[in-house]
Amino acid sequence: EPSRAGWLSRLKEGLRKTGSSLAGVFSRTKIDDALYEELEEALLLADTGVKATEFLLEDLKRRVRETRTTEPQAVKGLLVDSLSELLKPLERPLEIGRHDPTVMMVVGVNGAGKTTSIGKLTRHLLEAEQKVLMAAADTFRAAAREQLAVWAQRADGSGVQVQGAGWVDIVSQQGGDPAAVTFDAVNAGKARGCDVVIADTAGRLPTQLHLMEELKKIKRVITKAQPDAPHEVLLVVDGNTGQNALTQVRAFDDALQLTGLIVTKLDGTAKGGVLAAIARERPVPVYFIGVGERLEDLQTFSAREFAQALLS
Ligand code: GDP
Repeated sequence: EPSRAGWLSRLKEGLRKTGSSLAGVFSRTKIDDALYEELEEALLLADTGVKATEFLLEDLKRRVRETRTTEPQAVKGLLVDSLSELLKPLERPLEIGRHDPTVMMVVGVNGAGKTTSIGKLTRHLLEAEQKVLMAAADTFRAAAREQLAVWAQRADGSGVQVQGAGWVDIVSQQGGDPAAVTFDAVNAGKARGCDVVIADTAGRLPTQLHLMEELKKIKRVITKAQPDAPHEVLLVVDGNTGQNALTQVRAFDDALQLTGLIVTKLDGTAKGGVLAAIARERPVPVYFIGVGERLEDLQTFSAREFAQALLS
């Protein structure tokens, strides 16, 4: 991946806000209770949450004892080890191509970066010459549909975009029933020999109807169209909302049994610790992280790289 190095520096740049209060901790003169207290405060400030913070502190103290470390600067490396190990279970790539087609349902509250992330993901799939059908199941928001179409058809804004053996097309119906649009899209995906069907769902409804009920219905309808689907239920969360992101992971996971996360806006957040909280309290795999608004700013998640970037 040619953009990998550039991405890492952007992540580091972004997480500087999270890491700045942490960095100060290691410039203390000795390893004592005051250092650990300051570290605890910095971790909590970074939205690491009480449970993950407690876990990290205990794990770190053990590492300090076992390695007989006496230099505060060396504690930083040990914290990178602790954090990497905690985040490791979140590290899992999204696998495509085991089904005909792979059906992905993408959920998340408005503003989280759902449409942008789907666009970025679709571009990756197109570059891998996959045949992709998008279901614009957010039938209320005309903007969401239009934005999807723009991402899908960047080139000329009309018709299907083709790249080698791959292509991207979109199924939509303004004001239609979201579940019906999704059902049609899965069936069309099967009929057209697609590799991937992506259902973009609403993040807020104009009626009193409960969002989770609507999403559960869409999930049921996908299973009706293809018995082993959906293969992926992806939640897009805004990493910049910190502990709020964890609350969303819990709520959506309880209702829909998530298979993966896309954590956006990790460029420039002071709350990067939330990934540790997710790892400790609701470890749903992080397929991708968003570190900016450009196409190449959707990257696979690496626990160690993230821990290093956070503490660099
Ligand atoms: P949706 O309502 O969930 O579909 O959210 P959108 O995809 O429309 O994104 C909301 C805003 O967040 C837009 O201005 C995006 O450009 C921005 N955005 C999305 N992902 C990222 C990211 O990783 N980093 C930054 N800085 N902005 C992002």
